[in-house]
Amino acid sequence: MSDLIHKSASELAELIASKSVSSVEVTEAFFDRSVELNPKTNSYLYLNRENAISAAKAADAALANGEKLSPLHGVPIAVKDNLTTTDAPTTSGSKILEGWVPQYDATVVAKLRQAGLPILGKTNLDEFAMGSSTEYSAYGPSKNPWDLTRIPGGSGGGSSSAVAGHLAPIAIGSDTGGSIRFPAAVTGSVGAKPTYGAVSRYGLIALASSLDQIGPVSNTVLDSALLQDVISGHDKHDSTSLPQSLGSMADAVRNADVKGLRVGVVKQLDSNAFQPGVKACFDDTIAKLVAAGAEVVTVDCPSFEYAIAAYYLILPAEASSNLAKFDSVRFGLRVTPDGNPTIERVMAATREAGFGPEVKRRIILGTYALSSGYYDAYYGSAQKVRTLIQQDLNKAFSQVDVLLTPTAPTTAFKIGEKVNDPLAMYLNDIATIPANLAGIPGMSVPNGLAVEDGLPSGIQILAPAMQDAQMYRVGSIIEQMYLAEWGSPLIAKAPKLEVL
Ligand code: GLN
Repeated sequence: MSDLIHKSASELAELIASKSVSSVEVTEAFFDRSVELNPKTNSYLYLNRENAISAAKAADAALANGEKLSPLHGVPIAVKDNLTTTDAPTTSGSKILEGWVPQYDATVVAKLRQAGLPILGKTNLDEFAMGSSTEYSAYGPSKNPWDLTRIPGGSGGGSSSAVAGHLAPIAIGSDTGGSIRFPAAVTGSVGAKPTYGAVSRYGLIALASSLDQIGPVSNTVLDSALLQDVISGHDKHDSTSLPQSLGSMADAVRNADVKGLRVGVVKQLDSNAFQPGVKACFDDTIAKLVAAGAEVVTVDCPSFEYAIAAYYLILPAEASSNLAKFDSVRFGLRVTPDGNPTIERVMAATREAGFGPEVKRRIILGTYALSSGYYDAYYGSAQKVRTLIQQDLNKAFSQVDVLLTPTAPTTAFKIGEKVNDPLAMYLNDIATIPANLAGIPGMSVPNGLAVEDGLPSGIQILAPAMQDAQMYRVGSIIEQMYLAEWGSPLIAKAPKLEVL
C-alpha cells in the first residue's frame, strides 16, 4: 500500500470511487506515515487516528450506498491549525491558545467533512500566521522534506512539508501575504490563494481580515483546482464572501490551452534581486511559453516598490485589533500574577506569557500606526499605496491575461538563518504581497531546481480578480510543459523522506 502515498489526490479519488481501494486504506497509509515521520518534519501539531479513520469509514459507507459526495470523496487532507475544528484543538501556533477546542467548525472544515474528506490532523504554522518559515511557531519549526536543515516556508510550512513529504496528499493553507504560495515554492509543491472572498473565512483565526484568504496546497495543479472547487462558495457567515460562483477550476485545468495566451512579466520583479538559480528557472519558463506560442510583454508596476512597506503597516494594524480578543477571559491561557490580580494585570500577564516576540512586535507596530496623530501618516498612506497597486494591476491586466513572477526571492534557506532578522524575513514576501493588497488570485507552481543548490523554485501566476480559472489554466500549461520534460512531478525528484 506504500505506493498510495505517492499518488495525487485526483488519482486517489478515482481509485476510491471505483472501489479499487477504500478511503480507510488510503487514510491509514497517510496516517501511519505521518505518525512515523512527523517527529522529523514537525508538519503536524495534532494527529488523531480515531477521527481520521471514522471519517474514512463514513466515506466508504456513503460510497457503498451509491453516494459520491464530491470529486475528492474519501481523500484524506491536512488542515492548517488556524482553522477551527470541533474535534481537535486549534492553537494557531500560539501558546495563548494551547489546548483550546473550538465550539464550531470553520466553514471550510465543514465543507471538507460534507465532501467526504477525512481530516488527518492540524498542521504547524508561524504563530498567528505571522512569518515565512514556521520558526515563529510556539511549537518549533517544521522542516523541509528536501533538506531537513531548511525551512519549508511559512506561515503554512506545516501544510507544505506534509504535502511535499507525502504525509498528506493535499492540505489547506491560509495566505495573508504569501503563506500558501511561498511555502509551495520552496517545497516544490503547488499552492493557490483564491480571489479575496472566493472562500469563506468564517472560522479562520483572523490575522489581517482584509488580506486573509484560505486556499489549497497540493502536488499537482489539478489537485489544487479540485480542492478549491470543494471549499469555495458564498457563506452567509462571512459577509465578505462573494455571492457569485467563479466556475469550475478543475474544468479550467482539464481544458487548458496556450492558444491566444498573453503573459506579462513585471518589470519591478524581474531583477537580479532574485537568487541566480531562481531567476534562471523563471527565464526558462518564459522561454518555454514563448516557444509554445504565448505572447510575452513587460509590464510596469511602479507602486510594487512600496508594497512591503504598505503591507507591514496594514497587516500589523489589523492584527493588533484582531488579536485584542485574546485577553485571558474567553480563550485559552490565563495567567494570574501574584499580589493583587486585577483584570488588567491578569490580561497583561497572560498576553506577556502567551504571545511570542514576533506577535508582540506586530501588535506594538499596529497600535502605534493606528494611534491618533499617526493614523494619516502611516495607516492612511499605506491604504493609498494599496489603491495605487490596484491601479497598476488594472493597467497591466488591460494588456495581458496573467502576470508571472518568481514566487520567492530564494530557495529554502537554512533554519536559523533569518529568524533573528525580522526585516530579512519580511523581504521574502516581495513578490506575493501585491496579490493580497489587491485581492487578486495568485498561485505558485514548481518550475525547476535552482542550479546552485538543487532546491525547488516556484513561478507565481497572478490573474485579475475573479478570474481564478485563468490562473489555473496557466498553472496547468506550465505544469504540462515541465511534465513533458521531467516525466513526473518535480516532487518525485525529492529525496525520499523514509530513508532520511
Ligand atoms: N510572511 C508574511 C507575514 O509574515 C505572510 C503571512 C501570511 O500570509 N499569513 O506576514
